Amino acid sequence: MTHACHALYCSEPVPPRLLMCRAHWDLLPPPAQRIVEHHYRQGQETDKRPSPLYVLAANIARTVVALRERKIGERQALDRLRLASMVAAQQRITPEQVKEMVGAMGLEDELLHKHGEARRG
Ligand SMILES: [Zn+2]
Repeated sequence: MTHACHALYCSEPVPPRLLMCRAHWDLLPPPAQRIVEHHYRQGQETDKRPSPLYVLAANIARTVVALRERKIGERQALDRLRLASMVAAQQRITPEQVKEMVGAMGLEDELLHKHGEARRG
């Protein structure tokens, strides 16, 4: 079965167990890569039952990459984060857990960086 990279607007085929193609994966900060890998469970791509924390990590990863590629702006990133937080809340992930993961995966830094750039430009 073909499976595409989960980065925004990317259709690069990748093995189903991988979240993103090499080029997009490399845009993720190493701590974010480790968090995605940490929450990956072998076989989740077959039984379609990734853990809620994996889904959250994947959503944050996609947002970080899209921001880095400038495919989305700060407002869209915040909208995506809000949506991911709502999905997480339905799975009993606390707002504190979401906040911690957002910080650990570098999304917060990315948003602050964008803000600074917007002011310079
Ligand atoms: Zn890709």
